[in-house]
Amino acid sequence: MARKCTICEHKDRNKIDSAVAVKGASLRTIATQYRITISSLRRHISNGHIAEKIVQAQHAHEVIEADTILSQMQTVKNELWIIHKEARDRKTNDGDKYPDNPLALKTLTQLDKHLETESKILGVNPEPPANPVTVNLNIAEEVRKLVGILPAVKR
Ligand SMILES: [Zn+2]
Repeated sequence: MARKCTICEHKDRNKIDSAVAVKGASLRTIATQYRITISSLRRHISNGHIAEKIVQAQHAHEVIEADTILSQMQTVKNELWIIHKEARDRKTNDGDKYPDNPLALKTLTQLDKHLETESKILGVNPEPPANPVTVNLNIAEEVRKLVGILPAVKR
């Protein structure tokens, strides 16, 4: 028999799932906050318990909860793209282009992580439907642009 998952049994399970899936907090931070071990949290994630929860939710009265997680993820993603755009569009007081590339790069890293988590939750395969791939290509394109720009920005 499979061992009981201590995270699934945890009284703050929804908050923990949300911290992982929505906020993208580091496992160490979450583990410390909820006094759980990183290994149990890892097991909870890699065994797909967060994803299962969402699937179950579709069949139960928890649909709203799963929707909330996904729509929150969407909000986070939108915010990241806004921050990214602002970072890229930054200008000096004289109106010259002065992109905040380190920040832009950070948002891309977050988006990348976000995409991974979202794919896990939705159970999307690595080879895949149109949307995630489109986003992926966008990110790859942005990274390429940034990498091209970075040496020029360095002093
Ligand atoms: Zn679990």
